[in-house]
Amino acid sequence: MVMRIGRTIPPAASPIYLKDIVSGIAGFFQGERIVKRFEDELKSFYQVRYCFAVSSGKAALVFILQALHEIYPERNEVLIPAYTCYSVPSAIIRAGFKVRLCDMAQGTLDFDFDRLKEELDSPRLLCVIPTHLFGMPADVERVKTLISKRDIFVLEDAAQAMGGEWNGKKLGTLGNVGLFSLGRGKAFSTLEGGLILTDNDLIGRILEKRLADIKGYGVLDSLKLILNVVALSVLIYPWIYWLPKLLPFLKLGETYFNPFFPIRRLSSFQAGMAKKWNTKINNLKAARSINNNKIAGYGINPPGVCRGAIADLIRFPVLVADSDTKMKILRKSERMGLGISGGYPDSIDGIDGIGNISNKNSFPVAKDIAERIITLPVHSLMSEGDVKNMMQMLKPLLIH
Ligand SMILES: *Cc1c(COP(=O)(O)O)cnc(C)c1O
Repeated sequence: MVMRIGRTIPPAASPIYLKDIVSGIAGFFQGERIVKRFEDELKSFYQVRYCFAVSSGKAALVFILQALHEIYPERNEVLIPAYTCYSVPSAIIRAGFKVRLCDMAQGTLDFDFDRLKEELDSPRLLCVIPTHLFGMPADVERVKTLISKRDIFVLEDAAQAMGGEWNGKKLGTLGNVGLFSLGRGKAFSTLEGGLILTDNDLIGRILEKRLADIKGYGVLDSLKLILNVVALSVLIYPWIYWLPKLLPFLKLGETYFNPFFPIRRLSSFQAGMAKKWNTKINNLKAARSINNNKIAGYGINPPGVCRGAIADLIRFPVLVADSDTKMKILRKSERMGLGISGGYPDSIDGIDGIGNISNKNSFPVAKDIAERIITLPVHSLMSEGDVKNMMQMLKPLLIH
């Protein structure tokens, strides 16, 4: 464990400014109608009939899975990539369903489609979750084609891809139902939060009914939220980020599996903070795009098919030669405060205490990704010098 005092880059960041906090507090006093307005703006931008704002991406997943299950009560398995965010199995298990895993295709962060085809034959399968990991678009169309006329839903996990596009289509709207996360370190953040989008009447109406009874944040929880936002808005800057990083109870940058999380409606404070979300997303995206292109300019390619322009990556993933190289890079990055992160530490079947996985194959490509992946920070708080320093450190270790 390296203790560094001095400029330290966070691995991902969507900064929150004083004016966001001010409009959040204004939203707090306006109440529920500000949340409705946020949902209406999203519906019109994404051209979908239903949008619901909740307390996290995980909460969004729980609601969606329960709604889908109401349509096909005999189906209880959820098929996800064997390498993904631990929040996904946390939510599936919280909702009472079984996790089914599909290995990844070599050199990508997307499904191995030959394996996917086999997995789709399970008669208990409720839905498949293609995932735009780190903002890299997954091939949702191909999943839909494979499913063809079967009664299996496509749930698009765009948690890390709000504002992203693929072939002129907006990510989040490609499946039967989609979700975004507004958590820390996502494409756009209100500290925590999740959004559900669907144009499917059946799914939309069930969600509408289920969400009608859901409580929002109480006053005390809202106050806690406001205090956390104020703290984060300062502590996320590279000149001070070393400080919260030294505090182990904050668990910064750690990935853990935890099916116990609150499920609420988004608060009016958060909806207020999200005011002018579209402009903010475009600004964050523009800053990331400069850094993504700079890194790509060094001849470094992220895993995945990159047809034409580089995607709106929120962290730039790189598969390095082997796990020794990965460890060496992470140690150097810690010492130098460069913000390089190791991605999720293992494939989903390797999570301690996960239980409940309905297909016990092995997932060698997902394991290999976990061993070799690093992610480079590209957010708006990176200076030109930060990118240069990082690439200088990486260059001798990436060329092999
Ligand atoms: C973050 C994330 C989630 C869950 O979102 P939270 O808002 O953190 O609950 C789900 N899927 C993926 C791929 C994520 O990165």
